[in-house]
Amino acid sequence: MNYSEERLYKKRLYQRQWREKNLEKYKSYNSYIYSKDYSKQARIEKRNFILKSMGNKCIKCGFTDVRALQIDHINGGGTKEKQEIGEGVPFYNYLIELIKLNIWQKGYQILCANCNSIKKYDNREVPNGTFSKIS
Ligand SMILES: [Zn+2]
Repeated sequence: MNYSEERLYKKRLYQRQWREKNLEKYKSYNSYIYSKDYSKQARIEKRNFILKSMGNKCIKCGFTDVRALQIDHINGGGTKEKQEIGEGVPFYNYLIELIKLNIWQKGYQILCANCNSIKKYDNREVPNGTFSKIS
């Protein structure tokens, strides 16, 4: 075993001993981390942070109810991105990185559900003929 392997081994050993000594504590912490409540809460907090950082309103119409605000990929391509980055928290973490670097403006904007649907229609991101425009 070289030095770094040894350190890693000792660290793991220490963690295991800690877990064995503090089993109840470990169990409750772990179940909290993996519980729906935690992930839901984390998701909400991250989403709120992102929306706030991005102006907290629809850039088209000024709508501000966060329940209907959506993070929109300016140039489309949301589906490919979902495959690469993932959805939910991984996507939020990615956005938070962009926000910290202050480079999110090129790729993202906030739209309300209405404006987002209209944009998708106009960009033909929805299959042709799904909606018919009434004029
Ligand atoms: Zn809008």
